[in-house]
Parts: sequence; structure tokens; C-alpha cells
Amino acid sequence: MLVSAVLAMSLIACQQSENSQTTKTDAKNASEKSQQAMKKEMPKVEAEDLSYLIDEHSYANKDEVLLTHLDLDLEVLFDKKQLKGHVDLSFERLQSNAQQLILDTRDLTIDRVTSIDSDGNETDTQFVLADKDAVLGSKLTVELKDGEEKVRIYYNSNPQASGLQWLTPEQTAGKKEPFMFSQAQAIHARSFIPVQDSPDVRVTYKANIKTPKQLLAVMSAYNEPNTPLDGDYQFDMPQAIPPYLIAIGVGDLQFKSMGPRTGVYSEAAYLDSSAKEFEDTEQMIDITEAMYGPYLWGRYDLLILPPSFPFGGMENPRLSFITPTVIAGDKSLINLIAHELAHSWSGNLVTNATWRDLWLNEGFTSYVENRIMEELFDENRSEMENALSVQGLRQQVKSLPVGDTILHITLDGRDPDDAFSGVPYTKGQMFLVFLEQRFGRETFDKFLNQYFGDFAFKSLTTPEFEKYLDKHLIAKYPGKVTQAEIDEWLHSPMLPEFMPNPQSNAFIKVDAASADFISGKLALNDMVTDKWSIHEWLHFINNLPQDISLEKMAELDKAFDLTTTTNNEVAHAWLKLAINRGYGVVNQRLEDYLISIGRRKLIVPLYKALMDTKQGDFAKRVYAIARSGYHPLAQGTVDAIVNPAKPVSK
Ligand SMILES: [Zn+2]
Repeated sequence: MLVSAVLAMSLIACQQSENSQTTKTDAKNASEKSQQAMKKEMPKVEAEDLSYLIDEHSYANKDEVLLTHLDLDLEVLFDKKQLKGHVDLSFERLQSNAQQLILDTRDLTIDRVTSIDSDGNETDTQFVLADKDAVLGSKLTVELKDGEEKVRIYYNSNPQASGLQWLTPEQTAGKKEPFMFSQAQAIHARSFIPVQDSPDVRVTYKANIKTPKQLLAVMSAYNEPNTPLDGDYQFDMPQAIPPYLIAIGVGDLQFKSMGPRTGVYSEAAYLDSSAKEFEDTEQMIDITEAMYGPYLWGRYDLLILPPSFPFGGMENPRLSFITPTVIAGDKSLINLIAHELAHSWSGNLVTNATWRDLWLNEGFTSYVENRIMEELFDENRSEMENALSVQGLRQQVKSLPVGDTILHITLDGRDPDDAFSGVPYTKGQMFLVFLEQRFGRETFDKFLNQYFGDFAFKSLTTPEFEKYLDKHLIAKYPGKVTQAEIDEWLHSPMLPEFMPNPQSNAFIKVDAASADFISGKLALNDMVTDKWSIHEWLHFINNLPQDISLEKMAELDKAFDLTTTTNNEVAHAWLKLAINRGYGVVNQRLEDYLISIGRRKLIVPLYKALMDTKQGDFAKRVYAIARSGYHPLAQGTVDAIVNPAKPVSK
């Protein structure tokens, strides 16, 4: 997933207070239970602390009974905001005497559970759906019969499903048809499928999806580009993926090819512009294959979502979900596509086993993303993007709880969405840049290639990675990196003093021009900006003095039309500065911006700045209009900022 450094503080502020109290006990019980199971299974290693293997965010008894395949048969009911039907769960008994299959659910209605024999005959089976925990949802326990290998669960999701967003026609670009899409990471798959919702579990899946006839369904599976529009769609995902990568989108979608393996699905409004903006996707695949080995997933398509999608992108395999806010017209924000594609190696192929190990997923992906950008453009571009990321990280760590600045984070039952900050992304990436610098790019690339190969279609934890790193890199080339340095990177808070500090020559020139403008030495007419990239503009605005005068702001606005810029990132940076300085000229634009976009990275810091600067009335008024267009995840985040005293349920 691509979120941003800037939003994490608000995410943590709201979700921590919302969830942590209620979940600790249950998470502890779940942990103790898995621990007992593990001890039973592995008596010889009792002395070693294996707690790092426990996924505290799942009730699943995956050490006893492990899901292997799902067959989904669901109808998409827009009027009820429900997915309704059944799922067949195939499993393997890791302990032959296991009597129960334990699954994760959240806000699901379970009608009936049956056992299916090899001839397809069904017999009713006992099940218990426990009370809901605020973070984990409800544990579903299914009694197993001897020899049974498949159960069927009849269920429906409910309108409040945290992993689904239901949009009215008015909330789409086309305004004629409704739209629905899922977002399962981190633990939201359980809100639309009863499943062992742990990144350590991998399943293949097939799906029959029924929709209104005029709509198209797409999934994180093989999508037939020329499928007839008939409201009855079949999908097959033959590669085993963790449940958080199961994804579905349904809407008035069209397809446009971009290359032999690539294309976009989108509403008509974004079809041509997105296919043009992202036309380099095929080349990005070639570049990544040359560096890290073959792309193993068949096709790679993009689904362009309505602007309410709360994230930049989501790396759903074979079909990344993408915000339209990065269609800038000049490819200035397509590092997002590089990021989601990079997950086809780091994350989707090699996965973090628990959410405490998220940096193994996002840090590697941010590293690979930047390498793709360097190859596709040049070092100048990749350096600017790195410098901006690190600036954001340095800013963010100042306001994060100190424990959240550790790569191998401790979550203690908190919502795993809390783990998403610039730390796993950019600190994780800088750790890999550090290793690359110490060992040399050639050696480090060989190591990465072998790593992706050795752990393909597997999940691993940070301690397991450390052992692998030591064996295949550190010990193999002694004297380059010390154990103390590795420990500081992975287990110490804040940023190591020896962290690489990416610099951009282009930014040094921008800084000089900015300083001269602020001091009055340089008039804006004489400032040469016509060749500035979006990155240079972002650097310029982000680094203007926080006490810049309103006159200077008006001067900049007049010269460069910053209030009306169509680049969403530049607009965000400018609006944030304007809020902090009380530059009210932007207010209409700010209102339009907050109502038309639901991407958390772009809206959350603006609401926060409004509240921090005592412009709460404005924030509340605009949010009252905008809220219904936001995704449940964005609503939860903004609710807590705009109405901090009022407890909110997600
Ligand atoms: Zn990501």
C-alpha cells in the first residue's frame, strides 16, 4: 500500500485511543493460545522465545488447521450494501486430531455452516460466532468432523464492513451507476470473507461474482480483458496469496490495453488519461524483471478507483488499485505505479508474516520503487524522490510515539493500521540503501535476487530475515557492517546517525532561489522556474519558512497560480502552508479539494492543520459535506480529528 509519512501521526492518534484498551486482553489470550499450540508442536525449541512468530491480529488456529483454497460464490447487492452468498474453505490438517477450524470475521452475518464431502454432499455443522472485539472482530469457531477437508459458510457482509466501500452513482465520475470496491489490508478481508486473516496464511481462490448486468466486476485474479458484460463473472487466482490481497471492484468499468501484459480498468472519465499517464507500466515490468527476476503473476492491470479511495494505491496482485489523484498529466506522480508493481516481488511474493514485520514489505518495496524510477528516468529523478521521502520521514519521526519509530515495531494488540507510517516505508528503504552502499550495488542486487527466489510465495518475520541476512550477506563479506549497526537499524527508535541522507543537486538550486526570494534579493520575475519539476515545486513549498508573510504568499500565488494548481500533491503542500499561515484566499479551493478527494494522505494533514490553527468551524462545516463521500477508513481517521472528544466506532 502507498500511504505517506505525513498522515501517520493522525492515524495513530485516532486509532490507538480508539482501539488499544479493548483489545489487549483478547490479543493476549489469542497469543497465549497460539503459544501453547506452538509449544505442543515444537517441544525441542522450548528454550527459544518464539513469540515473534505469533500473529496477534488473528484468531486463526493456523498451526492446527491451515486454509489452502477458497471458492467464493457471491452476489453484489448494491441496494443492501452487502456481499451475499457462500464460501467453500478447503484446508489442510496440520494436527490430525484437530477438532475445530478457527476463522476471523468482522461484522459478518453467518447463516449456516456445512461440511462438504468428496461427492459435494452437504451436512450441517456446529459453529460459534463470538462477541466482537473492536480491533480483531469476531472469532468464528467451526466444529470439524473426522476426515473432513472442506466446509461451506453461508453469509453476508454488512453495510458497515470496514473493507468495502459502497458508492452511490453521485459519488462516481460517471454519476450514473454505483461503484463498490474492497480494501483488505491490513485486517479487513475478514469484513467480507470469513477467513484465516493472517499474512502468514496463503490461499488460492476461485470466485463466481454476480452483479447488476450493466456493471463489470474485476478481482485480484486473472481478469479476461474481453469478458462480456453480463453480470456473471468468473475468476481464478492460481497463485497462493495472503487474504489481505483478495480484492474486488465493481462498477461502470471499461478496459483499455497499455501493452501485451498491461492495461487499465476505469470509469470512462479516466480511461484515456490514465492509460496515457501510466503507459510506461509495461516498461517498468521489463526493468524490474531485469533487476530482480521474472514477473510471476501473468498480467498486470490497474484499476483506477473513484477519488474517495483512501490510499494512493493497493498492490492487489495482477490488479493494483490506484487513486485517480496521481493522474497529473505529466507522469510526475507515477512512482506510485512503480511502488505497486514492486510489490509483485516484495510483499506479494515475499510477505511479512505478521504486521510487526511490515517494514519487510514496505521498506523493500520503497527501495525497489526507487530503483525502477532511476532506470525509467534517471538518477536526478530518483534522488529527488528519495530526498523528499527522507525530508518527510525526518519531519514525521518528531511527532510519532517513540516506539513507532522502530522498524521491528511492537503493536501489543493495537490496530495494525497503526503500523503504517513513514518508518516501515522510508526508514526501511534507507536501511537497504545503507546495505547497498556498504556492500556495493552488484553484491546487494545478487543478495536481493536470491532473497526473492528463496522466499517466493512464503512469509517471514524480522528475526528470520536477520538470520538470512547474516548468512548470505554480513558473514559472507566480513568487515563491512557490524552487528551493532544492524541492531540499531532494526530494533532502536528514531533514525540512525549513519542513515544515508539523499541529496538532490536540483534541490540545492531551489533552496538558493528560495532564500534569495525570502530575503528580498530576488524578485519572482527573475526567478527561473519554467523548468522546475513537480518535485522541485514540492521541495520549494515544503521548505518555505513557516512564518512566511501573507504578502509573500500572495506574491507567489499571483506569479505561479498555486491556489489553482491541478497537481494534487502541489495543491496539498500549498493548502497546508496556507492553513498554517491563515492565508484565507485559498478557502474556496480548500473546500472543493476536501470534498472532491478522499485519499487520506492528502486530506488528513489538512483537517489536522485546520484544527490546530483554531479553524475548527471551517473544518466541521466542510467535513459535514465531504464525509459521506469518504471511505470508512478515512471517516474513522477524520472523525477522530474533527470531533476528538466523541468516541467513534469504525
Ligand atoms: Zn506499499
